Amino acid sequence: DLRDVPLEISGLTKAYRNGHLAVSDLSFRVEKGQVLGLLGPNGAGKTTTLRMLMGLIHPDSGEMRLFGHRVTPGAPVLSRLGSFVEGPGFLPHLSGRDNLDLYWRATGRPAGEARMAEALEIADLGTALDRPVRTYSQGMRQRLAIAQAMLGLPDLLVLDEPTNGLDPPQIREMREVLVRYAAAGRTVIVSSHLLAEVEQTCTHAVVMSRGRRVAAGPVAEIVGTSGRRLEDAFLE
Ligand code: ATP
Repeated sequence: DLRDVPLEISGLTKAYRNGHLAVSDLSFRVEKGQVLGLLGPNGAGKTTTLRMLMGLIHPDSGEMRLFGHRVTPGAPVLSRLGSFVEGPGFLPHLSGRDNLDLYWRATGRPAGEARMAEALEIADLGTALDRPVRTYSQGMRQRLAIAQAMLGLPDLLVLDEPTNGLDPPQIREMREVLVRYAAAGRTVIVSSHLLAEVEQTCTHAVVMSRGRRVAAGPVAEIVGTSGRRLEDAFLE
């Protein structure tokens, strides 16, 4: 049943006004419970793909289905989808908790204290949550942005380069956060330009190069059998 499939993309194509073909005939499917890495070098088309998924820009052709619902131009993005594509701004003088609270109320979604508490527990921000955001490190701000995307416990969480600017211990923590999130049968899609990072944080991967899909499958398989194609993707 397609309603159980978090995301199915088929033949997705997008050229920018200057004629640059950013995404070309891209197809892949994400199953429930997967942490899927959208992997590729800078300019591969990852952000363009995620922006189309969020309904922020429209594809020239192809189709995207979220839990069986077709993503159509102008349609409100499914409430089962949570994301941070462009880093949101926080109010520096308010605590992390107050920022999240404010954001959540502004979305107009049902309050649900329990959901908020669960999201905060998964994000594991600790006591920092009650400090003003201006005292946060870059890594903490990033974690807060991810916690924000998780607030309603969306069935599909989409994160564009969530580990950008994080150091290796913070990347390990990120892995734990994502794995905890997906453990309840929820699904995560993250983009990254680092193979090692996808290897550490994801169960599955789709590798993109110049707008095209060059490999897809479980991470162990991608790393093991398509090393050559992977190298080509990154050396082009
Ligand atoms: P990065 O990690 O650098 O964000 P990416 O894989 O996310 O890379 P995209 O941002 O999707 O790649 O960009 C794909 C290609 O489309 C790039 O060559 C980029 O220069 C081009 N591009 C992106 N946005 C536009 C735009 N608004 N107009 C024209 N070309 C664009």
